[in-house]
Amino acid sequence: MASVDSSPSAWPCAALRDADLARRTTLRVGGQAEWLLEPATPEEFQDAWRAARERGFVPRLLGGGANLVVDDGVLPGVVIATDRMRRIFRPFPEVSGEEALNSETPRGEMVQRDPAEDPRLVCWAGATMPALLRSARELGYSGLEGIVGVPGQVGGGVAMNAGGKWGDMWDCIELVRVGNDDGSFVDIARADADPLYRNANLGGRPVIGAVLRFDPQPKLLIQERMSEYLLHKRTVQPVTEWSAGCVFKNPDPEISDGRSAGRLVDEVGGKELSRGAAIVSPLHGNFIVNTGQATATDVFTLMEDLHDLVAQKTGIDLVFEVKRWRAQDVLTAPTS
Ligand SMILES: Cc1cc2nc3c(=O)[nH]c(=O)nc-3n(C[C@H](O)[C@H](O)[C@H](O)COP(=O)(O)OP(=O)(O)OC[C@H]3O[C@@H](n4cnc5c(N)ncnc54)[C@H](O)[C@@H]3O)c2cc1C
Repeated sequence: MASVDSSPSAWPCAALRDADLARRTTLRVGGQAEWLLEPATPEEFQDAWRAARERGFVPRLLGGGANLVVDDGVLPGVVIATDRMRRIFRPFPEVSGEEALNSETPRGEMVQRDPAEDPRLVCWAGATMPALLRSARELGYSGLEGIVGVPGQVGGGVAMNAGGKWGDMWDCIELVRVGNDDGSFVDIARADADPLYRNANLGGRPVIGAVLRFDPQPKLLIQERMSEYLLHKRTVQPVTEWSAGCVFKNPDPEISDGRSAGRLVDEVGGKELSRGAAIVSPLHGNFIVNTGQATATDVFTLMEDLHDLVAQKTGIDLVFEVKRWRAQDVLTAPTS
């Protein structure tokens, strides 16, 4: 690994050394990133990616930190955060998906154009999911109501194929732009992709942006559906507490007799477990909540405890949905 100039100005975009990550995640645990890069555009992202790889690092990608547990201490290497790449726009009418990602209808023209004529939105990776859903609702674009209330960013949502019983992120995807190891971009049409449950199956490549296609519908109907789903979500998930979403993926219903991961945890008494200030949510057995001063070690240990308890009592080997960034995992790239 090449040595890294310790000045933030050595990077081609905004950069922070020893940047606190806890406040950038919804669970609020963890330490610092040795380097945190914050590109504001896809071009800056490309430069940042290449600069990191030239220095021997494989960057980790941070979206809204809503499905992530970051280790305590200093995470070596580079984290690229997409927060600043937050643009959402309507593409120029009738351009193809690839061009749509690069084109934007001028504001004046956009106001005059009927949104139903070309019901598409372009999002950069850092656009937040709530902002995307608000834009869709305001334009009368239906298709993503089922994931209302899911926090995070579009890049993370696409990579994780975020969703629930009323739909998934990929239901509206027309095209996704991803980055290759060498920093070049490639566009993947929906027909050529094979998204899986909570995994877009993109080979770990960074999502740079996406084109989404919707179904034009009356705003009122869209709003009603969103309100109904949100109300339900608030009754079954601890949405106002510090958590990282679901800890485990739901197992194959044939293996678990249709029981979700949360129900399995509940049935084996997992809700009684805690570690330090990390507890299992009384509302939902698949959520770990940081009640204040939990550490990543508390959370990692509690996650393992739950996994082992379910395995011992049911024989089911639950798979982690939440991503775990361990300080001991140093991701290196070959340097020339
Ligand atoms: C209260 C609560 C409720 C939730 N409800 C749901 C739900 O109903 N359904 C659901 O599916 N999820 C849910 N989640 C989890 C979370 O909101 C989703 O997984 C979300 O899509 C994560 O997006 P993010 O931007 O926060 O990703 P992060 O947490 O930042 O990252 C998650 C993973 O995606 C990778 N990643 C991030 N950005 C990119 C990118 N641009 N390109 C490639 N990889 C990237 C990261 O490296 C990491 O591996 C919930 C979370 C919370 C806290």
